[in-house]
Amino acid sequence: MQLRIDLHVHTIYSHDSLITPKELVQYAKKRGLDGVAITDHGRVDSALKIAKETDLLIVPGIEIESLDGHIVALGVQEPIPKELPASETVDRIHEAGGIAVACHPVTFFKGSLGKRTSSRFDAVEVINSSAIPFKRSVKHAQLLASKLELPSVAGSDAHYGPEIGCAHTVIDAEKDVGKIVEAIKMGSCQPFGSAIPLTVRLRREILGIGRRF
Ligand SMILES: [Zn+2]
Ligand SMILES: [Zn+2]
Repeated sequence: MQLRIDLHVHTIYSHDSLITPKELVQYAKKRGLDGVAITDHGRVDSALKIAKETDLLIVPGIEIESLDGHIVALGVQEPIPKELPASETVDRIHEAGGIAVACHPVTFFKGSLGKRTSSRFDAVEVINSSAIPFKRSVKHAQLLASKLELPSVAGSDAHYGPEIGCAHTVIDAEKDVGKIVEAIKMGSCQPFGSAIPLTVRLRREILGIGRRF
């Protein structure tokens, strides 16, 4: 089956997000998503906890600050240490049974891997709805994915409820975390989405979420 999943969402368990577990489920359903990957900064316990408490499909993940830039791990059950070189971080993710995604690899104001993205990764996040400037980021990330011959994925990088689902990945898999992760690795996925609308960005700024990762 074709699943629509936003592969990059932060909850209140990230120090810079406003999204409560209740809002996460509400907005995901409103947007017609089949599921979301919770990728809080430096922790996976929040994703595992929320997954147990809801009937929405949750792909447990974590966003790691490596020495070379941010990396998203999907399908892991344990935290991955930060501040390691990217190559070692990718190895740790694989050892933990997950896949490594080069998130927002070419953008400003976020810790981006840029040229340090290698074919050791399992996928490239070609659409990140909060990347600035959006079109340029998408174009360069697409070039990177095709150069490295890696699957392309998309996520909103939401830190505020209305941002959920601004981007999503269509994955050809059954509703099972292991199968979803495997399908992404095999490239049975397609990225869709756009930038977070300016009005939503402004509302989030007013709510005091200035710092973005
Ligand atoms: Zn993020
Ligand atoms: Zn990031």
